[in-house]
Amino acid sequence: MDFAYKGKTIRIVQGDITKIKVDAIVNAANEGLRGGGGVDGAIHRAGGPSIMEETRKIGRCPTGQAVITGAGNLPVKYVIHTVGPIWTGGGRGEAGLLKNAYESSLRLAREHGVATIAFPSISTGIYGFPIEKASPIAVGAALDHLDGDTTVREIQFVLFSRPDFEVYQETVKEILGTRPTATNTPPTVPRNT
Ligand code: ADP
Repeated sequence: MDFAYKGKTIRIVQGDITKIKVDAIVNAANEGLRGGGGVDGAIHRAGGPSIMEETRKIGRCPTGQAVITGAGNLPVKYVIHTVGPIWTGGGRGEAGLLKNAYESSLRLAREHGVATIAFPSISTGIYGFPIEKASPIAVGAALDHLDGDTTVREIQFVLFSRPDFEVYQETVKEILGTRPTATNTPPTVPRNT
């Protein structure tokens, strides 16, 4: 589902992020950048070994930060690897670190002239961040980025499961309801009448 925001688009998709054709996809990586389960494993499997060759040269990425590589066999130009926090109850700055992860990724995207970018739901899998708490942080960071001067025209959130997709969709509707310039109608498509 598409939501228009200041002439740009937020898109909520249910699916596999390795199949999405955009300029950049974001990986929910770990600090060692050595691959793993979940979406990280899926991205390295689909992209092939060149991505790991690059992350190995980069070394590490602290929680809340992001690094960028090429995309191997994936149908995108870049993979942005960001490290979300491990949820330990919410008292260790997890919310701020998750926000940093989205912001760092979007800053890197802008520095590389990215127009379209797709995120998975960072930290809400193996890292255990409750999705109801994570989705407003994700969507808020996306809208804040679009408020600024950026090359990014479209931000997608790609959710693997139907329930996660529904949570994100509700979150976008709720947050856009509080932002005056937003409309939750799809961008107008000219029709032949
Ligand atoms: P983290 O360690 O940051 O929690 P995970 O990869 O475990 O990262 O999970 C993040 C989210 O990505 C989870 O909601 C998981 O269901 C989802 N996910 C797993 N594989 C894919 C995929 N191929 N495309 C999109 N999302 C995926």
